[in-house]
Amino acid sequence: MTTGTQTKTTRKSNAGAIGLSSQAYMQSNAASRDEMAVEGVAMRHWPYPYRAMLAVCSDLDETPDRNAYWDTAEFLNTTRSTPMGDGLGLEVGNTIYFDMATDQFAYWNTDDAGRSMVQLLIRSGHIDCLHSFGDLATTREHAQRALDELEQNGCRLDVWIDHAQAISNFDGGIMMGEGDVTSSPAYHANITVKHGVQYVWRGRVSSVLGQDVRPQLGGILSPTHPIASGKTLAKELTKQMLSRMGNEKYALHAPNRILKQSSLRDGQAVYEFLRCNPHWGGVSSHETAWGIGDVLTQRMINQLVERNGGCILYTHLGKSDPNADMPLGATAIEGFRRLAASQADGDLLVTTTRRLLGYCRAKNEIGFTTIRNDDSIVIDIDTARNRYADLTPIIERDLEGLTFYTPDPQLTRVRIEGEEVTGLLQNAADASGRASVSIPWIRLEFPER
Ligand SMILES: [Zn+2]
Repeated sequence: MTTGTQTKTTRKSNAGAIGLSSQAYMQSNAASRDEMAVEGVAMRHWPYPYRAMLAVCSDLDETPDRNAYWDTAEFLNTTRSTPMGDGLGLEVGNTIYFDMATDQFAYWNTDDAGRSMVQLLIRSGHIDCLHSFGDLATTREHAQRALDELEQNGCRLDVWIDHAQAISNFDGGIMMGEGDVTSSPAYHANITVKHGVQYVWRGRVSSVLGQDVRPQLGGILSPTHPIASGKTLAKELTKQMLSRMGNEKYALHAPNRILKQSSLRDGQAVYEFLRCNPHWGGVSSHETAWGIGDVLTQRMINQLVERNGGCILYTHLGKSDPNADMPLGATAIEGFRRLAASQADGDLLVTTTRRLLGYCRAKNEIGFTTIRNDDSIVIDIDTARNRYADLTPIIERDLEGLTFYTPDPQLTRVRIEGEEVTGLLQNAADASGRASVSIPWIRLEFPER
């Protein structure tokens, strides 16, 4: 790096406004647009070459046993031969809870082999969310026992998803939780956040397909189901209106962001995130293994890609097709095949909830400085530039896939906290006409049982 002719600009990342093809959304932030014009270096919205990103975020309710749990994960995540056919090679996570009625698959209910399987999948990243501690976890001691078990086995989960009306939930409204109420016997938020939980879901689901872009209501109305889809649209419009009026419960809806900075009722800082179910029947419709084939339609996938949106899809893959003799029925498998085809075409990147949240957090919080001289363009990433609260730092995995438009990929280098990224990928121009470089996106490795 020389000092003679270099120019230097520093900018804050503004993930929602950078690198989008949605012109209107981009123009809402004139500063980012001007900076791009000066330097020609800008962050792309999603990892190259993808135009959208999706996580299938499944609550495990009603999963019958460990075999159904494993078979579903293996089919979705590998290309092995499985009971449901050749695997799809996607990246799909799952949730786990601990204290449940004995007819439900759960950590304490399954056998030693089931518990080893869960530990294996947590360590590989394929179980990425706690789904409360379970219906029967009513005290802090239940939570402590579960967290101790995780930690003794080298497991950590940093995403929390409220379940039904479990008292360990964090939402005090419809989810009836007291997990973050310090006076409650169920209070556990301090030990759970200390364990590593920093992303929480408190019951918010949007019918709007595609987050982290301007909310678009098109596609909710179904000409063949005018009354039901009209109700769904009306409900979503109400949420959007309440959100714009400052209603805290629906704070994520109008900005249409995947995650936002928030806090629990005991004051601890966390991120809250939004899930989506775009089905015309409403957010609680077809959110199961028997229904997901009608959610993952070609039209839905195309629309998400055209909108350049992100999506954490709300579903329950343990709730199976009553006519299917396998965990996933024929229509669900077809839906997942459509996802796999879209990923193979370079349109839609499918990953776990945890990885999508980490990527979005990184986009929001990193800053970068560009130094240009005759020989090279150096992009210096500062992972703590816009850091929120005292949470776990952004990890390197969260930066995988980050893509920067640059006038000359051959001459561009990227450094993270001063350390050069090795294996940087040089990409041809995408539909915007701009070439780019990206930090390699490394797939999770699915374990052998
Ligand atoms: Zn649940």
